[in-house]
Amino acid sequence: MILPIHQPAGVRDAVPGLLDVADETLRAWLAERGEKPMRARQLRRWLLVGGAESFESMSNLPKTLRQQLAEDFAPLASRVAKHLRASDDTHKLLVEVGDHKLIECVLIQDEGRRTACISTQVGCGMGCVFCASGLNGVDRNLSVAEIVEQLVRLRNLPGPGNATAPDGVQRLTHIVVMGMGEPLANLDNLLAALELATAKDGLGIGARHITISTVGLPVKIRRLADLGKQYHLAVSLHAPNDELRTQIVPTNDKTGLADVLAAAEYFFAKTGRQVTYEYVLLADLNDQAVHARELTALLRGRRAHVNLIPFNDVEGLPYRRPSVESLQIFTNTLQQGGISVKVRKRKGSQIDAACGQLRRSVTQG
Ligand code: SAH
Repeated sequence: MILPIHQPAGVRDAVPGLLDVADETLRAWLAERGEKPMRARQLRRWLLVGGAESFESMSNLPKTLRQQLAEDFAPLASRVAKHLRASDDTHKLLVEVGDHKLIECVLIQDEGRRTACISTQVGCGMGCVFCASGLNGVDRNLSVAEIVEQLVRLRNLPGPGNATAPDGVQRLTHIVVMGMGEPLANLDNLLAALELATAKDGLGIGARHITISTVGLPVKIRRLADLGKQYHLAVSLHAPNDELRTQIVPTNDKTGLADVLAAAEYFFAKTGRQVTYEYVLLADLNDQAVHARELTALLRGRRAHVNLIPFNDVEGLPYRRPSVESLQIFTNTLQQGGISVKVRKRKGSQIDAACGQLRRSVTQG
C-alpha cells in the first residue's frame, strides 16, 4: 500500500534556509534587530534537536522575531515534493533542493532502529551499469545544509505504527550514506554534515552508527582513514576480478581492484573498523559459483564482511535478480570459505525505496 500523506505547498526560492546561513551572518542579523547572539544557538537547536519545521512553532522565541525570521529565511530550504510510506513503516521522500533539483532519501524503521539513508549528490557520475541514480550522470554536489536537511526531515517523520500524528521527536539511531551520488566525491560537504549529525548539540548520532558507502575511490578512502573518525566504510565491490568489475563499475578502469582493497585495508589499519564489501548480485553476470569462489579467494585473510544485495529491478535496464538457488549457493560458498556474509534485507520495495528509482519514475513522467 502506498500512502501519500504530506505535500507541503510553496517553494521558498527567494529566501535562504537557516541551516545555509553562516553563524556570523545570523548573529549579525539578530543584532540588527536587538536580539542576543544566543538566539542563533536557540534557532539551530529548534531545527536540529527540537524538530521544528516552522518559525511559528518555535514557542520560546518572541512573536515578532518569529515573524521577522519568516520574512528573511526559511526554517528548511528544501521542499518535500513527494512522501511515500510503505506498510513496513519505510518512508521515502522525494526532496526538491535549490535550483529545483530532485533528490531522494529514505527512513527505514526496524527492530528499534531508525535509519536514515541519504543522498550526497544530484545524480551520480560513477556510471555503475545497474544503478538508477547514475543513468543521467551527475548534476552537482549537495551543500552541507542540503545533506543535513535530509536527516532532519527523516528524523521528524512519525515512528513505527503511527499514522500521521506527530508523536514527539524520535531520534535517528543510524545513518547510511547510500542514497544518490558518490559520497567520497563530495567528501568535504559530507564530513561537515556528519559533524552536525554526530554533535551532542546536533543530531547526536554515534559515529560508529554511520556507514559511508563508496564505489571505491582509493585516494579519498585514505583521506577519510587519516581523519581517524569511527565511521563505518562500505565498499561496493560487485565483482571478484578487474575484467568483470570494470564492466559493471566503470570507474574500476582507473582504480583497479588491488588499489581499492589496499585502501580499504589502510582504512582498517587506521581506524580499527572492519570494512564491509557490498556485492550486488546480477543474474548470470556475477552471481555464479565461480564468482563466489573467486571472491572468497580474493577476501580470504582480510578483515572483511560481505553484504550481498540481490539486484533491485530498474525499469529499462536488462539486469535481473539472482535466482533463489544461486543466491543460496553464493552465500554458502563464501561461508564455507570462512568469509563473514549477510544478505541485505529488502525494505520499502513497494515504494521504490532503492537508489534513484523514485526520482527516475517522476522525472520520466
Ligand atoms: N556511490 C555509493 C553509494 C551507492 S548506493 C556506492 O557506490 O557505494 C549503495 C549501494 O546500493 C551500492 O553498493 C550500490 O551499488 C547499490 N545499488 C545501486 N543500485 C542498485 C540496485 N538497483 N539494486 C541493488 N543495489 C543497488
